[in-house]
Amino acid sequence: FFFQAEDGIRDVAVTGVQTCALPIYQDNCGSFQFFCHSTSVGLIVQKFGGSSVADAEGVKRVAARIAASKRAGQQVVVVVSAMGDTTDELIDLAGQVSPLPNPRELDMLLTAGERISMALLAMAIGNLGLEARSFTGSQAGIITTSTHGRARVIDVTPGRIQEALKDGAIAIVAGFQGISQDTKDITTLGRGGSDTTAVALAAALDADVCEIYTDVDGVFSADPRVVPAARKLKSVTYEEMLELAASGAKVLHLRCVEYARRYELPIHVRSSFSNLEGTWVVKDQPEGGSMEQAIISGIAHDKSEAKVTIVGVPDRTGVAARIFQSIADADINIDMIVQNVSAAATGLTDISFTLPKTEGANATSILQKIQGEIGFQSIQYDDQIGKLSLVGAGMRSHPGVTATFFAAMAQAGVNIEMISTSEIRISIVCRVADLDNAVRAAHTAFDLDSDSSEAVVYGGSGR
Ligand code: ADP
Ligand code: ASP
Ligand code: MG
Repeated sequence: FFFQAEDGIRDVAVTGVQTCALPIYQDNCGSFQFFCHSTSVGLIVQKFGGSSVADAEGVKRVAARIAASKRAGQQVVVVVSAMGDTTDELIDLAGQVSPLPNPRELDMLLTAGERISMALLAMAIGNLGLEARSFTGSQAGIITTSTHGRARVIDVTPGRIQEALKDGAIAIVAGFQGISQDTKDITTLGRGGSDTTAVALAAALDADVCEIYTDVDGVFSADPRVVPAARKLKSVTYEEMLELAASGAKVLHLRCVEYARRYELPIHVRSSFSNLEGTWVVKDQPEGGSMEQAIISGIAHDKSEAKVTIVGVPDRTGVAARIFQSIADADINIDMIVQNVSAAATGLTDISFTLPKTEGANATSILQKIQGEIGFQSIQYDDQIGKLSLVGAGMRSHPGVTATFFAAMAQAGVNIEMISTSEIRISIVCRVADLDNAVRAAHTAFDLDSDSSEAVVYGGSGR
């Protein structure tokens, strides 16, 4: 076969059955883009999530898939997550021995989950007659900051991975973990962080593509567990995927998308349970696609946040700054903020903000400490909220999106409690009990429902 290479300068000869395994992306104009380096052997990073390796059968199935890529001539680096719900189970176990587990020890415990799956996967590949070597995050050179539970990758020094590849072996890396440059302690990258391990390694190794194998066929217009009529996206831009991931679409870890955008590394999200083409996360929509750009690409929802309301805050210059400085000093990330108009008679106002539920206790205790100094009346904590976000680059140039959205919410009987927007996103907060209905109503209102088949969820508990 002869295909024209992306730069249009030379034709590339691709021989034999190996072509089937090369990641090729066909755009709407019918031309091919190669994400491999012409005639050299391609390097691919494949990441398998927990549901793909939930049991011994899953491990063997994934091993066979990896072996096929290797036999087709690729150099393969694999990143693997802990089996099934192992990470959640380990967190529960830690909670049984201590109400507030020591963060260093919790990271040490959680990283054990990925060690189990990496070793089993290497054994299963060995059983298929190929050499595989497993490495912890630290051995693979994943260097991070020192914040336990949500460390950031600051450097990748994959010498041992390159050595393994040079020897013709498949390298298996434990996802979600690294080692702190300062403390030399083992760290974790935050829930869902194996995606980031995979993209960081792919960038450091100059891989052609990072494949994220999961339990659905790609990135859909909404979570298929909530919207069975969700449609699979052929491609999505880094920009839109960043907003979706930041708004709770956990199919990709936010940091992995940031990383991929920085290095312009294509991500292919696909199912480990099927051979279907998945979703490409890329810089720009393929040519021809932009003419018909959807107003809304996807809808994300999030049940992991809570709302704090500070009641009766004196409406004086500097008070909000004092409140949010104390929250920032504790390294707590907040999301939306709403301040009411102060009542003329009292000069008092209410300030509400949302934050991850896991930070709720910390934030309320900090606020209690400054209550006397600021003189507000009380604190309310509400963990029964849900957030829904519409994301789409097309909303930049289409007026009326908010009107359609809010009308759909009204019709579905959903009361909107908070609103925030970016250039390509509108988010609302509502009761968590209304959230799934709200997502389905918005999906229908923006004509996103698929008229063909229902979205398939192959595995996973959705935990
Ligand atoms: P893995 O264990 O493979 O990392 P995750 O559970 O982290 O898998 O992510 C996959 C899940 O993300 C899917 O099962 C689905 O429920 C959820 N999800 C949320 N939003 C989307 C979306 N827009 N498209 C696809 N999946 C989504
Ligand atoms: N095992 C970790 C988690 O459950 C990391 C991952 O799966 O990406 O969050
Ligand atoms: Mg995940």
